[in-house]
Amino acid sequence: MQPTELTLLELAEKLAAREVTSLEVTQACLSRIAQVDGKVKAFLRLDESGALAAAEASDARRGKGNPLGPLDGVPVAVKDIFLTEGVETTCASRILQGFHPPYDATTVRLLKEAGMPILGKLNQDEFAMGSSNETSACGPCHNPWDVTRTPGGSSGGSAAALAAREVFGTLGTDTGGSIRQPAAFTNTVGLKPTYGRVSRFGVIAFASSLDVPGPLARTVGDVAALLQVLARHDPRDSTSVPVEVPDYSADLEHGVAGLKLGVPREYFTEGMDPEVEAAVREALKVYESLGATLVDVSLPHTKYALATYYLIAPAEASSNLARYDGVRYGLRARDAKGLKEMYGLSRDQGFGPEVKRRIMLGTYALSAGYYDAYYLKAQKVRTLIREDFNRAFQQVDALVSPTSPVPAFKLGEKVEDPLSMYLMDVFTLPCNLAGLPGLSLPGGFTKGGLPIGLQLMGRPFDEAKLLRIGRAFEREHDFVRRQAPL
Ligand code: GLN
Repeated sequence: MQPTELTLLELAEKLAAREVTSLEVTQACLSRIAQVDGKVKAFLRLDESGALAAAEASDARRGKGNPLGPLDGVPVAVKDIFLTEGVETTCASRILQGFHPPYDATTVRLLKEAGMPILGKLNQDEFAMGSSNETSACGPCHNPWDVTRTPGGSSGGSAAALAAREVFGTLGTDTGGSIRQPAAFTNTVGLKPTYGRVSRFGVIAFASSLDVPGPLARTVGDVAALLQVLARHDPRDSTSVPVEVPDYSADLEHGVAGLKLGVPREYFTEGMDPEVEAAVREALKVYESLGATLVDVSLPHTKYALATYYLIAPAEASSNLARYDGVRYGLRARDAKGLKEMYGLSRDQGFGPEVKRRIMLGTYALSAGYYDAYYLKAQKVRTLIREDFNRAFQQVDALVSPTSPVPAFKLGEKVEDPLSMYLMDVFTLPCNLAGLPGLSLPGGFTKGGLPIGLQLMGRPFDEAKLLRIGRAFEREHDFVRRQAPL
């Protein structure tokens, strides 16, 4: 077995047992990337020397019996939206070309402090706006299960790199589903933590009231181990919440007997792929057979989530992206006469069409005269959506649904039709609007061999229970052991 086929926790054990060194594994990842990434395009850039130096330092610590923690020496990679000190960070946008951040995102710092070598920066949709990785200014990422298909978005590279066995764990961000949907499309596990659980400091802002960084990996246990590193109060993020961090692996094997799992009616809509529905219904039976009680619940405002999200997210984006003016970061138009024209030309040349669409929609929704009708109204509906969840969680421990209404679609299929692309997010957006944790894990395969994702949604800060429920299902199948044909 190649070392790159190990799960993150299996590797951690082998490192601890000194059966393998971090340097060997980091080199194995780099060779695997050299071998397959030409087809997958998960990496936008590598930091070979940084990763190898970190691996050597890890081995030296290990040799002295002083590892920094259980994941010391395990190579990871991060979405290009995370600031990495000295390593170019573009958010897959032309406008940030050449930007070398002077500091690390808190999450990146925490990975480094845990001793984890960072292999490089992963492909994504431009400024995380998209559901297929096709808005990346650097070209799309491809799904290792079928390279003519999307790995999902916006954290497509974070999921594809795992499915291609290039790395053991990754960071993504989830504003409307961008961790969970790519996980669903690639047979990997992705967790969107509760808003406020993981620091946003140093994560390039898209929609600040929705953005949440989180881990992806190949198993539920691996994700739990990464969350343990990332979940931390951060005084540098004013929305970071100072609640206690539990031991996320303590209850992992405790099963679901006695738990109540809600099945939200509104998440089994027409238009969803019958194979996706069948897989989720099958999963529900498995949970029942394991001793969970299924409860039919209703989240009546679900139908407004898409419209609400696509007002709030662009509104916040239009404001966040005002800072890219050709002066402070990255690209500056050369041929401008005067300051105002330089702003305009830099933004015109720097942003891709989807980002421009969002800025225009958002600016419109926030403008005087329309603010009450659109933005304010959307915020009120957001409260109703959150109240739906509050009511449901008085009855149940967690909710079970599909992650995405369809499996991975073809690259190019939806890119000309923004609305059909936005519809990909129907089942993931509500969690973001309500600030709740959501986990996507392998839920089976279509007859054609494409992965299907199972989504679990939980109460605020109840990640441990979601992981436990996810693990109970994972244990019943060999899904996580199946490998993309690459
Ligand atoms: N697909 C959604 C969007 O385009 C969500 C993206 C995300 O979660 N970053 O806005």
